[in-house]
Amino acid sequence: MRIIVIGAVAAGTSAAAKARRSDESAEITIYEKDEFISYSGCGMPYFIGGEIDNPEKLTPRDPAFFKSKYNIDVLTKHEVLYLNGENKTVKVRNLVTGEEFEDCYDKLVLATGAYSVKPPIEGMDKNNTFSLRNITDMYRIKEYLEESAPSKATIVGSGFIGLELCESFKALGLEVAVVEMLDQVTPGLDEDMAGYVEDHLSENGVEVHTGTSVKEITKEGVILSSGKKIASQMIILATGVRPNTKLAKEAGIHLGDSGGIKVDKKMETNIKDIYACGDCIEHYHVITKKPIYRPLGSTANKTGRIAGENITGGNLEFRGILGTGIFRVFDLAVGQTGLSEKEAKSMGYDVEISHNIKPSRPEYMGGKEIVIKAIADRKTGRVLGVQVIGEDGVDKRVDVFATAITFGAKAEDLFHLDLAYAPPYSTTKDPVMYSGMILD
Ligand code: FAD
Repeated sequence: MRIIVIGAVAAGTSAAAKARRSDESAEITIYEKDEFISYSGCGMPYFIGGEIDNPEKLTPRDPAFFKSKYNIDVLTKHEVLYLNGENKTVKVRNLVTGEEFEDCYDKLVLATGAYSVKPPIEGMDKNNTFSLRNITDMYRIKEYLEESAPSKATIVGSGFIGLELCESFKALGLEVAVVEMLDQVTPGLDEDMAGYVEDHLSENGVEVHTGTSVKEITKEGVILSSGKKIASQMIILATGVRPNTKLAKEAGIHLGDSGGIKVDKKMETNIKDIYACGDCIEHYHVITKKPIYRPLGSTANKTGRIAGENITGGNLEFRGILGTGIFRVFDLAVGQTGLSEKEAKSMGYDVEISHNIKPSRPEYMGGKEIVIKAIADRKTGRVLGVQVIGEDGVDKRVDVFATAITFGAKAEDLFHLDLAYAPPYSTTKDPVMYSGMILD
């Protein structure tokens, strides 16, 4: 059997490695148009900010690793130009030599990921304007910081990548401004919780401009739609990503309403023997069962593994996502899973909300307050989502909620969870249990 995978970052390499574990004899080739493979994109802000000293720690694997460990051929700087699902062929261009050739497959996996959205802003093509999607972008940003020594950066967009970069630039001593089109930062959070993040940004000296957008980029900085000018020598566009679906679309593969490739629970597309995984696909939501596009590394690895299992005769089904995520901005961890209040209401749920502020562990053990906003369905009692913000212990509370919601917990169940307690880790009644007591 011949397997071709297109894309060699999180999803593609997971699919190929899993396929190899399940089928020792398959011929497996990954085509990747970039130079870097199987890297930790999630770590890039921390190299830019200096927390990671050596960039090679983010790119620990190369084609030789995949050949020796898995007997997988990874051809970098090879772009797949065209895919024919009828005769099961791909057309590939070697980007170094310009040579083009055809290859054939029995099973094909699209793991073409996503690209950064570049909003149509006048002057956007200046050489001081960047986005951060891959290792090449990361090096460009780092090089500019070192060579041009900007004193101020403007970040357009206040999602998790924009805010992680705020922290990185501040760590390097730059002044930072964030511009967000909506009236709040961190668009995925409810407004009341986003307020904590915005206050924390201001406390850390970040200029926050909400409810406005960047109209023009000039040599001196940016001009906002409000007319205000922000002087800055570096601009980062962190305005979201879109799935890379060109190949799929041209091959007649169906896309979903979100724009991502439509797959079934086994990651197979509408064309037999063509699978897709990672940031190029749309997922479905555990609670609403509706399609959702939420491109995350955690899901890309999982869906890659599922594709790898199923192209080699397995039977592993995807069970959907809650959109669980967490990021750090200065001293705060910001975590979220399931539906926000605004999402739940827009879907017609009659919601019950609880806010509780409790220490992550006893204050005598250095506990810090965490804020938990939990959302439940008044009719069924089912927990629908949570947002957790604090300096300590946010990750485990979000994950407890994600687990509880996955298994359909009701608010009252949260109190009954038998959670671990000792003073260095938690309080006798964990903050998660209090959410259950309030919502009950
Ligand atoms: P990609 O990483 O987009 O890889 C797809 C690859 O396919 C690319 O290398 C591309 O060159 C290649 N390709 C596309 N078309 C072709 C073609 N025609 N021929 C050959 N090759 C092709 N996620 C989290 O869960 N937690 C985090 O903390 C987190 N932090 C992040 C921080 C940053 C700064 C960024 C940018 C992302 C972060 N993510 C995080 C998201 C995570 O990195 C992505 O979800 C993940 O990389 C997706 O992997 P993928 O393999 O699906 O796609």
